[in-house]
Amino acid sequence: MLSLDAFAEAKLADLGARSLRRTLTATHRLDGLWVERGGRRLLSFSCNDYLNLSHHPAVKSAAITAVEAYGVGAGASRLVTGDHPLLGELEARLARLKGTEAACVFGSGYLTNSGVIPTLASPEDLILIDALAHACLWSGAKLSGAKVLSFRHNDIAHLVELLGQHRAGARHALVATDGVFSMDGDLAPLDRLSALCEAHDAWLLSDDAHGLGVVGSGRGSTHVFPDARVPLQMGTLSKAVGGYGGYLCASRTVIDLVKTRARSFVFTTGLPPASAGAAIAALDLIEADRDLCAQPLARARLFAAALGLPQPQSPIVPLIVGAPEAALEASARLEAQSLLVVAIRPPSVPAGTARLRIAFTAGHSEADVLRLAEAVRPWADASPKAA
Ligand SMILES: *Cc1c(COP(=O)(O)O)cnc(C)c1O
Repeated sequence: MLSLDAFAEAKLADLGARSLRRTLTATHRLDGLWVERGGRRLLSFSCNDYLNLSHHPAVKSAAITAVEAYGVGAGASRLVTGDHPLLGELEARLARLKGTEAACVFGSGYLTNSGVIPTLASPEDLILIDALAHACLWSGAKLSGAKVLSFRHNDIAHLVELLGQHRAGARHALVATDGVFSMDGDLAPLDRLSALCEAHDAWLLSDDAHGLGVVGSGRGSTHVFPDARVPLQMGTLSKAVGGYGGYLCASRTVIDLVKTRARSFVFTTGLPPASAGAAIAALDLIEADRDLCAQPLARARLFAAALGLPQPQSPIVPLIVGAPEAALEASARLEAQSLLVVAIRPPSVPAGTARLRIAFTAGHSEADVLRLAEAVRPWADASPKAA
């Protein structure tokens, strides 16, 4: 056997022995709510399509119109010939929604953080990241070569301590956090973080992947905090917006620099026209319909109230199970009741905190929510109650 295959086989065997091997399951998402897997229809509580816009007729039709007008691919990097007209329109829309001077659209949220952070930070600099922040913030930080330290989750005092110890030795400092934490559903205290960053001349980057469309009247986590000033607001077009793509909203000069230097912008093909067209149509709906944007969180609150859990701050509710095997087993038992709640295991979450991660969407009925609550009651009763 080639040493390459021997390596892969040993690695997979080790992951399998620890219930950490992952496999794909073909899933036909029927309408943003129901999915078909292995010939069975399941009600999904595992899609990030919070507003079910992936299947909205106006969003689908905008994608089709964009394909007819501009073709299926951008054809090149945006700096060559890939800057089709929908991208500029989408950027103007995102900047308006977020209240920034400008925006830059990327291929995905992951590519956004992989490109933006190394554009702004170098080995002379310091990056401080919330311990539970998304993997792509860590990837971007590593690529930058800066000194990277993590602060305990949402622990302002720890961040103050680290800034006190390390800020003076660094040229620039960047603080990175999720706005809505993807696996826990809680919010970062962006008002206090922004004040602290200003006091220490640190640049605050918030990742609003799970905020846009569902908190802050649909405008995202920064808008939950009237006093928050966040100079770097990134996010994705692949969750509540329903399609695919990523973005950074920031000042005009920062966006100009990012478009000149971010490697994951310069050396990759532009977002396809269909994705840009779909995102514009989805933003139309998000801006026009605040009631729609409020529904996923209202469902999460109903669920939590039914189980006596703390009131959620976003449509994401975790039930911590602990061991990966236990999370897989819980998920399998729910699937037997036609409920899809995928088990989340390390390294997506810290060791010992494998969980059922439940994501509510506007389309879930109250009856759906209460049925799920009854089905998960054994794990809810055992789950540690977060403050
Ligand atoms: C999903 C996610 C991303 C990545 O966005 P994609 O567009 O899917 O690449 C980034 N940050 C957070 C917090 C996420 O949950």
